[in-house]
Amino acid sequence: MTVDQLPLAPYAAHDERTRGRRHAEASPAFRTEFQRDRDRIIHSNAFRRLVYKTQVFVNHEGDLYRTRLTHSIEVAQIARTIARALRLNETLVEAICLAHDLGHTPFGHAGQDALNECMKEYGGFEHNLQSLRVVDELEERYAAFPGLNLTFETREGILKHCSVNNARQLGELGERFLKREQPSLEAQIANVADEIAYNNHDLDDGLRAELIDLKDLMQVPIFEREHREVMALYPGVNGRRLVHEIVRRMINHVVTDLIQTTTSAIQRSVPADVDAVRARSRPLVSFGDAVAAEHLELKRYLRDHVYRHYRVLRMTNKAQQVVRSLFETFFARPELLPTEHHQAANQMETASGETGRARAVADYIAGMTDRYAIGEYERLFDPAKRS
Ligand code: MG
Repeated sequence: MTVDQLPLAPYAAHDERTRGRRHAEASPAFRTEFQRDRDRIIHSNAFRRLVYKTQVFVNHEGDLYRTRLTHSIEVAQIARTIARALRLNETLVEAICLAHDLGHTPFGHAGQDALNECMKEYGGFEHNLQSLRVVDELEERYAAFPGLNLTFETREGILKHCSVNNARQLGELGERFLKREQPSLEAQIANVADEIAYNNHDLDDGLRAELIDLKDLMQVPIFEREHREVMALYPGVNGRRLVHEIVRRMINHVVTDLIQTTTSAIQRSVPADVDAVRARSRPLVSFGDAVAAEHLELKRYLRDHVYRHYRVLRMTNKAQQVVRSLFETFFARPELLPTEHHQAANQMETASGETGRARAVADYIAGMTDRYAIGEYERLFDPAKRS
């Protein structure tokens, strides 16, 4: 049998054993529950907006950089490979990965940090929790319920981290953060695949943007090793082909290690089912020690040489200024919000005071693409622009 035909492992998240949806619905006729989740995510407005949301580099810097959309697809690709190799539910993994960044603000982490700062007195802003809010509340696609009404398992995977305070308000979904338990293996894979994807792709994008160069990268052990191997096999290779050959081998190296390490961990603990996976105090999906250390070094390198490069910091600074100005202005004068968002702000203020108004403003800003945020900024503050 090929890997394709093997049945799901007993500890996988089985479709027919889902904990269900918040609003009861009949099972789909021709799809599994998780297929339906994935399809709903793909058809959402928030998913389409990911095209114009930044990872590290702002859209207008160049057409070849990752956006949140291409990042999400790359995460899904890596995670699906791992899931299938471990006989886990590939469709669930795909749904989680495609949804994992739906709540991201414009301008990547700079935008999220700025919005969190603005929301400090109103419960803060966390993109993970916002992704859940998008699929649970904010999407407007169905007559019968708000949001996308996804299964527990997909929502569990979307909620990667959560503060104890927030967890208390999330009912069943928040429980694992209070009991220090784990999510399904599918959710654990989506989490690690995210990290693998952005580390390797930020390196690739950083090279493309000329923030870093090959010579400098030789101080990163995992890069140096793959570079040496590629040069031994293809002595004449250079330019983009050299870079891509190294990056693809780096991804392959860590994915292989993750599959092998996780396979051994599963064989040692033999979880009977997905609930036995959840009851554990530590995740089963992980790198081996050597690769974990290498990955950490790559992360540190990226932090010091890419994310803190002055050109990135300038962009970050501008982005924070845009987000802050938008928040302050809309919060002080909600009548400047487009009608639909003004109404939401009024309703939420009636229900929960200033905190409600702040949350409505944060929802509006978090939903913006980079270019829409810049457009709103100009319409508010540039007298020459039409409002
Ligand atoms: Mg991500």
